[in-house]
Amino acid sequence: MSKVNNLNIESKCVHAGIGEYENGPVVPPIYQTSTFKFESADHGGALFAGKQKGYIYTRMQNPTIEAMEDAVAVLEGGYKSLGCASGMAAIHTVFASLLKAGDHVVCSKSVYGPTNTLLATVLSKFNIESTFVNTSDIKKVEEAINDNTKIIYIETPGNPTLETTDLEAVAKIAHNNNAKLVVDNTFMSPVLQRPFDFGTDIIVHSMTKFLNGHADVVAGIVVVKDEETYLHFRKTLNQIGGVIDPFNSFLVHRGLKTLALRMKKHSENAIVIAEFLENHPKVEWVRFPGLKSFPNYEIAQKQHKAPGGMISFELKGGLEAGKILMNSVELCQLAVSLGGVESLIQHPASMTHLTMGKEARETAGITDGLVRLSVGIENVDDIIDDLSRALEKI
Ligand SMILES: *Cc1c(COP(=O)(O)O)cnc(C)c1O
Repeated sequence: MSKVNNLNIESKCVHAGIGEYENGPVVPPIYQTSTFKFESADHGGALFAGKQKGYIYTRMQNPTIEAMEDAVAVLEGGYKSLGCASGMAAIHTVFASLLKAGDHVVCSKSVYGPTNTLLATVLSKFNIESTFVNTSDIKKVEEAINDNTKIIYIETPGNPTLETTDLEAVAKIAHNNNAKLVVDNTFMSPVLQRPFDFGTDIIVHSMTKFLNGHADVVAGIVVVKDEETYLHFRKTLNQIGGVIDPFNSFLVHRGLKTLALRMKKHSENAIVIAEFLENHPKVEWVRFPGLKSFPNYEIAQKQHKAPGGMISFELKGGLEAGKILMNSVELCQLAVSLGGVESLIQHPASMTHLTMGKEARETAGITDGLVRLSVGIENVDDIIDDLSRALEKI
């Protein structure tokens, strides 16, 4: 494990979390078992007392899960990580571990919908208050801090506007105010953005997206930097129960091996597509961290190793144009989620955010012509042909 830390990212993706196993398999076996036999009463006692290393029950720990967790910890440069049943379970584990009644959270306004809802409607019932601000504006973060602020929660680039936050600046604010900086690194993955390098305390991921990368698993992870935090979070996760299972861990670990390759291809494709869209007469504007026109271009250059695979763009014809585009694409799949090998396209105003109503949508920055594209790893000419043909129909 120590040797793997010195490797380059592509090699880390292939080798991280792989140990030695009985019979010599090159990948960790799937320990599809709920529980583990004790050799004797004393052995069971020693395991529970933490005096001996070993496995007890899969909600507590399992070798297949642990192997995948080790891999993600290596990729993020953390101490250890905690595999969770979903990205939301990971985010909940962090909040439940760090917050108590009377505490306050400052959160990015441009954040994954259910994260907003978890804070605003679930945790608020337990007297935990949240303030949502545009965290790409550092002044707004400073203004939102209160005496009882315990967490600054940043998603960068944010969902769906791709607003990008200066993590180094926000980390300073957090630490000057005795708060923890928690970063959702789902959109970039550790291959393109390493939040710990900028002072982040805790990283979360929806592994459903780029980390697994094959649109066949729902899973999440929390990555921490020290043992004390790890043990505290592990206890909380064990009590909440939102753990990942061995088979999904196996699949995610398999996906991680190609993460560096995939992120490179996602980024290369997205750069070409973003430029194509920016020059298209049916497109009003394009938001993509790799474009010079990107509002937070400087921060993106500082924080990202490549611009990633997520593009937002605004169609000139609003709601109707969006529907036509959705109904005309063939290669790009009409689906929520992101980060898989296949290109996925989504039109919030006619789909995910339809019931919200136009006014509420616009307050949230979701305009009628807004389209979100998760660029896959197909041949870029095929994706452009598909978009080009569909845009012609508008
Ligand atoms: C999908 C997503 C989540 C939630 O993850 P699930 O695995 O769906 O629970 C959280 N944050 C971001 C940025 C996401 O895209």
